Amino acid sequence: MHKGFPGGAVLPDDKDLTEGSSIEKIPRPSAVQIVLDDGTNSTTVETTVRAGEIVARGQVIGLPQSDDGVAVHSSVSGQVRQVAESILADGTKKQSVIIETDDEDRSVLSQEKPQWKVYSEGLIKCLRWAGITQMGLAGGSLVARIRKSLKAGLRYVIINGVESEPLITSEVRLMTEHADKIRHGCELLTEILGLAAPNSKSSGPEGLFALCGLRQQAVGVMRNALKGGTFRLALLADRYPQDEEVLLTNTLTNSKLRATRDPADAGVLVINVTSVWALSQAWYDGEPVTERVITVAGDGTENTGNYRVPIGTRVRDIIEYVGPLPEATRYVLGGPFRGWSRLSPEGVITKQTTGLTVLTQAHRQGPEACIRCGWCIDDCPVGIDPVHLYRLVEAGRIDKVEKAWIEDCIECGLCLYVCPTHLPLLERIRMGKWALRQKRLTRPYSEIRD
Ligand code: SF4
Ligand code: SF4
Repeated sequence: MHKGFPGGAVLPDDKDLTEGSSIEKIPRPSAVQIVLDDGTNSTTVETTVRAGEIVARGQVIGLPQSDDGVAVHSSVSGQVRQVAESILADGTKKQSVIIETDDEDRSVLSQEKPQWKVYSEGLIKCLRWAGITQMGLAGGSLVARIRKSLKAGLRYVIINGVESEPLITSEVRLMTEHADKIRHGCELLTEILGLAAPNSKSSGPEGLFALCGLRQQAVGVMRNALKGGTFRLALLADRYPQDEEVLLTNTLTNSKLRATRDPADAGVLVINVTSVWALSQAWYDGEPVTERVITVAGDGTENTGNYRVPIGTRVRDIIEYVGPLPEATRYVLGGPFRGWSRLSPEGVITKQTTGLTVLTQAHRQGPEACIRCGWCIDDCPVGIDPVHLYRLVEAGRIDKVEKAWIEDCIECGLCLYVCPTHLPLLERIRMGKWALRQKRLTRPYSEIRD
């Protein structure tokens, strides 16, 4: 069992509340709001539909303008109501397509599926056609990662099924119920990327399938599914946030990458397990990404569980379906540590959304003044000083945050969790990162740096 990294914490994960819940499909929402996100930071996805147009499930509604971007598809059958800019949970603005669903359930998925050649460009073409990005945590372009890791000399392919955030079990369930599809995805990656068989003398890249050792059912299922293949099961000790890609890479490959590094630049391709499932669906069944599995958790609803939802489903529709308790006052898009918290059910499900946490406590007690206990510094998994950053942002000293390593923050939320005086450390760090980005947009980087 791999032990992990300095810092971090063993948390009460409460995953047993949903780990045994089979994936349930939610009823068709009355409308969806699909963010035109091509997986890159680009804001220039070309919209291929207009207000009033009738669309089918699986139809392309957005085309990427960059080589690393992917297509965006309608997740429902219906009529486009509006194409407009919307503000996302993290405060960024992106174009979205709002589609009112109908009862006809038209789909383009039954039409003849494309065929791709079994080599890396074929894999990239399939990902771009099917709209497959890194479908978890930080998101981002999987196409860019594949290109970068091949250029750097691919050494490892790590399938990330660790899912270490408390309460969230969407990927545990996906592996438990769809191990065969994930195995097919692994076999495809083996063939295309030339992975070496375990214990062979081949010089090909090594395949690792990373899982938390505590999730025994998923471990058992995946162990059987991967038998005889090239991917070796790598079991990790339960430590949050072990699923973060750089920490995972450092643990499994004995590297010392800084949190700002992309493992792909060091020849390590980390792929989220949901993306492997999506790849299998696209390659073998011709299905682009139109839905994903999320966990609904928290003490604000009795109907916690794992749900299959169309991309673009509004949080308020999910809340209406699961039924919030009267005391529900906080809605977190994502898990309880990394998610974006709101006092009303706002936001939409994107390809990266792993969960929805409904809580009865609007605010944690406090905040009170820092008592200099140092816990936030001790537990920070990337070794930065969260309270120093907090003070810089509070004082408006954005000119100083870069040198205090703000960009190394992986937004795991541990500092906030351990702080006995409940200072909003992560909230301020996110504000500081946003302010730094804005500053760079308006001034040359060199001016800001010095
Ligand atoms: S949120 Fe950032 S600063 Fe806080 S513990 Fe995590 S990595 Fe460190
Ligand atoms: S954990 Fe909270 S109280 Fe302790 S040093 Fe950090 S900010 Fe201050």
